[in-house]
Amino acid sequence: MGVLAAIDIKFLPGVGPKKAELFARELDIRSAEDLVRHYPYKYIDRSRFYYIHEIAENMPFIQLKGQILRFDKAGEGRNQRLTAIFTDGKRTLELVWFQGIKFVIEKYKTGVEYVVFGRPSFFNGKFNLLHPEIDLPSQLPPPETMGLQPYYNTTEKMKSGFLNSKAVQKIMQALLPHLQGGVPETLPAYLLKKYSLMNLTEALINIHFPKNAHALNKARQRLKFEELLYVQLNILQQTKWREMNVKGFVMKKVGHFFHTFYSDYLPFELTNAQKRVIKEIHADMSGGKQMNRLLQGDVGSGKTLVALMSMLIAIDNGYQACIMAPTEILASQHFETIRSLVRDSGVKVSLLTGSTRPKAREELHASLRSGELHILIGTHALIEDPVQFLNLGLVVIDEQHRFGVEQRSKLWRKNVQPPHILVMTATPIPRTLAMTLYGDLSVSVIDELPPGRKPVQTFHYYENKRQALNGFIYKQIQAGRQVYVVYPLIQESEKMDLQNVTEGYAYFRETFPELRISMVHGKLKPAEKEYQMQEFAAGRMHIMVATTVIEVGVNVPNASVMIIENAERFGLSQLHQLRGRVGRGAEQSYCILLTGFKLASDTRKRMEIMTRTNDGFEISEADLQLRGPGDMEGTQQSGMPFELKIADLVRDSRMLEIARNTAMEILEEDPRLEKEINRLMAYQLKKLKQSTVNWGNIS
Ligand code: ADP
Ligand code: MG
Repeated sequence: MGVLAAIDIKFLPGVGPKKAELFARELDIRSAEDLVRHYPYKYIDRSRFYYIHEIAENMPFIQLKGQILRFDKAGEGRNQRLTAIFTDGKRTLELVWFQGIKFVIEKYKTGVEYVVFGRPSFFNGKFNLLHPEIDLPSQLPPPETMGLQPYYNTTEKMKSGFLNSKAVQKIMQALLPHLQGGVPETLPAYLLKKYSLMNLTEALINIHFPKNAHALNKARQRLKFEELLYVQLNILQQTKWREMNVKGFVMKKVGHFFHTFYSDYLPFELTNAQKRVIKEIHADMSGGKQMNRLLQGDVGSGKTLVALMSMLIAIDNGYQACIMAPTEILASQHFETIRSLVRDSGVKVSLLTGSTRPKAREELHASLRSGELHILIGTHALIEDPVQFLNLGLVVIDEQHRFGVEQRSKLWRKNVQPPHILVMTATPIPRTLAMTLYGDLSVSVIDELPPGRKPVQTFHYYENKRQALNGFIYKQIQAGRQVYVVYPLIQESEKMDLQNVTEGYAYFRETFPELRISMVHGKLKPAEKEYQMQEFAAGRMHIMVATTVIEVGVNVPNASVMIIENAERFGLSQLHQLRGRVGRGAEQSYCILLTGFKLASDTRKRMEIMTRTNDGFEISEADLQLRGPGDMEGTQQSGMPFELKIADLVRDSRMLEIARNTAMEILEEDPRLEKEINRLMAYQLKKLKQSTVNWGNIS
């Protein structure tokens, strides 16, 4: 970046070696170029003063002018609280501090005119300002020149090192003259023109110190577009490379195994959605490219059958196939399901998990190497194990969100030529996220449930409804149904959580002494767990009290009630997964979300969404909105391969689409970005890849 590149941030006014070190350690900011790319996360309008009587609920930050009438100190030690009664000459308002009390009392005086700035909160029927910023009017520029003030993310360590948002703002101010000299452009002129984008110099200046709201918008647009375009160029370039260099196994034939199964073994008519999806998969597998397909379908939509029939196509073409599941229970269940589906049709299926005995394991390895075994079903053990296939042609991965990019690449190494990959998930990845995470992952959707299913009815109850709920449980069981009661279990609070399950179990036993109730959690021995599950599946238990071990896969069509205790502690996609355990039979099913009374607004939203819709797509979109892409289950384990600094996958979905199309057009004409007009982008892309370790991992 020319001039900027020559600056050592240590020597900027207000920085120095200590703060430079903090920038580097805390935010990975090492150069002036990094620093200008640390964008504000919000702006606050300080161009006017408000009166206390104008304050309304949900107001963002506001500034007031007036005097402190008196200070009141209350509490001791950690519970100390300082209140200042502040007046704007007409009304009064409380300013409140819980920390830095001594500092505040010493610094601020009563009877002096101050500008007070903060976010109003409503407490005890009154508005107050918590930990406001206070300045003498003479310390501030006149409000009409203040405009939009940038706020920067900082960490706790930075704050204690005197590098808070305000300090960062001052440093940016010092950087401003260097920006005004001009920053080398990172987008080619033809794109700036085509989309009427602001140039980089203007955009950087305005993102930190917006002239006005319009300029800020233009700056944002430009920087977002740039960010999204490079993400797309990177993914799509890799995809192109793969298309040109990696061949896929060609599986044109639909033969004996498929036909036999279809005509003699299929227990029911396929839904139209299943038929369509199998066709899509077959088209991929026979097309000469390596398939990379995501199969999305709500819980109970019949993905397993689609997986099986896809595997039969692979077998018909002389290849082997495997299914990987996230847990042993799920792997065993797939194994049982598939074995009973193919019965004596001649398809050889085996199960490999962590608990497969050495001797069985050896036999299995041998039959895999000889090609005698057609389908291998297992857990991670499948990739960790020194498993050698004769010719692995198709890999099915169940419940994608538990499989990271790294694991997938391990699988690839099982073959000289990568197998086709089919990833199945009930928690759909929102389109925008999929577009950002994967280049060529095509998507098939089973958007139809097998006939006769009734949508699950979902209710949100507070604790006080427990009596009524018990009555309901009893009625359902009398009618011949079964009930799940699920408790959260997370590592950080494992002990407490286990205690909750145990107590819950005791409670239900006490409440329903005449019913058969089982308990299942992750701490049980696998055999015990398995036994309890089987008992429930066979209908010999009325209620299963469990932790989330039952989240994925368990299939008990007779279970019609899912009670989720402490539902506030589950994420949306988990709630949706759990709910999917019921509604698998012909009877009306119910999902009850139990929570305490006090709920955060996010939680309230989650409950509201769950009771409103059964649509997995809607839920995953909502999840993305509530949590942001970094926290989505799909990205948590695998890790977002890059971090978006300014674009937002929810709000900027339209722009993402444009960036993607633009990247496609560019690469269509110039796959390696060798043309003169694209040189700049090639250079920029290379720089980005070097700066971000993870960028190369996107598949
Ligand atoms: P998913 O994995 O998508 O949640 P499954 O493959 O476990 O769903 O299927 C759920 C249930 O629906 C299973 O009991 C399965 O046998 C049944 N099923 C699948 N396809 C059909 C169909 N076309 N008609 C009727 N039942 C089906
Ligand atoms: Mg399934």
